[in-house]
Amino acid sequence: MNKTLLAMLCAAAGTALAQADQPLVFEGARLIDGTGKGPLESSVIVVQGDHITAVGPAGKVKVPKGARVVDVHGRTIMPGLINAHGHVGLVAGGKNSAEAYTRENILPQLAQYEQYGVTSIMALGLNRDLGYQIRDEQRKGSIPGASLFVAGRGIGVPDAAPPVPVAPDQVYRPQTKEEAVADIREAASHHPDMFKLWVDDIYGKFPKMKPEVFQAAIDEAHKNKIRVAAHVFYLADAKALVAAGVDALAHSIRDQPVDAELTKAMKAKGTFYVPTFTVDESAFVFAENPEVTNDPMLAQAVPAENLQMWQGQEYKNKVGNDPNTPKIKAALANGMKNLKALQDAGVHIAFGTDSGAQPARVPGWAEHRELELMVRAGLTPMQALTAAGKGSATMLGLKDRGTLEQGKKADFLVLDANPLDDIKNTRELVSIWHGGKEIKPRARTVATK
Ligand SMILES: [Zn+2]
Repeated sequence: MNKTLLAMLCAAAGTALAQADQPLVFEGARLIDGTGKGPLESSVIVVQGDHITAVGPAGKVKVPKGARVVDVHGRTIMPGLINAHGHVGLVAGGKNSAEAYTRENILPQLAQYEQYGVTSIMALGLNRDLGYQIRDEQRKGSIPGASLFVAGRGIGVPDAAPPVPVAPDQVYRPQTKEEAVADIREAASHHPDMFKLWVDDIYGKFPKMKPEVFQAAIDEAHKNKIRVAAHVFYLADAKALVAAGVDALAHSIRDQPVDAELTKAMKAKGTFYVPTFTVDESAFVFAENPEVTNDPMLAQAVPAENLQMWQGQEYKNKVGNDPNTPKIKAALANGMKNLKALQDAGVHIAFGTDSGAQPARVPGWAEHRELELMVRAGLTPMQALTAAGKGSATMLGLKDRGTLEQGKKADFLVLDANPLDDIKNTRELVSIWHGGKEIKPRARTVATK
């Protein structure tokens, strides 16, 4: 190798190294820091490596020497979305399948979440042990995409909830409390980030989980210092679960209005509430709302066949004739009233969608839709965004993210419009920064009205 070439290579390597730890400075954006306090109209954020080293008003934050300055005047910066209830590896090629839980399916799903601004996702149950492996590899830096957290298989009911096509090694179905304890112990050996329980009869179709089973599972999980989230539908089950010590209700309460007894108990115990409105809405929204199926942001996220199917008359008839459709609409309406009541009562609200569980629950797209529905339920845009960052991070025990403060991970979205004016503006993604690295948005569209 001649000397000049060697010198050039060394210089190039030197530049690459310098760039890797070159500080980044985001100058001039309106900042929604996710703590819930009002926006800072002209901010400076300094990022070093994967975290924020300084943040504050322009003119008050020292800009380090040699920093790369990103001009974000006129933009809004908000925390990356944290989905506290999503799924991976359950849908392949637009269909649910027991064979979908593969690396080949999961990696593109993590990428899709990230490209829509979902920087962290809790895969809340129905995971094979492969989920732990992918999570661990990702933490070592070898797998890109949304940061994956895993609730393992989760505890369901024999021949009942969750009624989804999965392999036997994707969910435990204990008959007794002793079996539930054994299942939790087996799961704990893999260090899950949370546990999941299903306590529901799925619109009256199946027997529910016995209270002694969920009590034993929750107690054993807590002995292992692992939090528990539960799938719920009914107010009575929610009360029993909160009394049993569950840490989060992972869906809306949808049979009737929440009452003072529940809110008091949730506040006393610090129980989190994750509404997941898109679960209910996904059962009918595509059949009834052409402006939604014509949304280009949705088209980027699903196979074309699915979109065509949802736009077709056959699907419209199927949804229209389904006796559960009116029940689901009533359930959604109850859920929306209940979110507003729980937020007003001061219960901890987190953010989730159940995206990835079924083809109509679309990773990435569903999260923006969920924010819209939370605001339609009566939350302010600020309350919805706070739930989607700090709320989820607190529920999941993640102290390093959720807000944009000194020392936190540099997980944030740069938007071309202010979501406090219209929550649909979270869709106006200019860029996504995840652990200090820039991710190009998959789709940027004008919001549907
Ligand atoms: Zn789920």
